[in-house]
Amino acid sequence: MPVTKPQAEMLATLAVAARPHGARHWDAPGVMAALANIRHLDLAEVMMAVGRAARDRTLETPAAIGNTAAPCWIERPVERWTPTKTTRSDRCGECNKPRDVCERTARWGDDTHEFRPDYIQPAGSAVDELRDIKHAAMAAKEES
Ligand SMILES: [Zn+2]
Repeated sequence: MPVTKPQAEMLATLAVAARPHGARHWDAPGVMAALANIRHLDLAEVMMAVGRAARDRTLETPAAIGNTAAPCWIERPVERWTPTKTTRSDRCGECNKPRDVCERTARWGDDTHEFRPDYIQPAGSAVDELRDIKHAAMAAKEES
């Protein structure tokens, strides 16, 4: 579905409003002029290109919107960040940071702590005892 004039006006308003703080300001007539070049293209594609162009703080003018060879017309993969899981035995009980962060963080003033796990697997716990019993039982089973 090509872009109608009212849709282009909406996109121009949004593009002007979406410019990042500190980036060169665009005016609606400039965006409309760029949109005139590509109004025959699919509305959804144009919407995404306008959004990417408006977000790009290096763009001085909205002219890139009218040029389908411009980077704003290339869909970029979303960079996903996955948090690293920290177990209680990898987290410092003193500063609550992961082991690697705690160990490379500079100490200031009277903070001279060394990494000490938040949780230490107790030795001789009920779990260990059950495991030993299970091992003994399985060994006995294999012998018979
Ligand atoms: Zn620490």
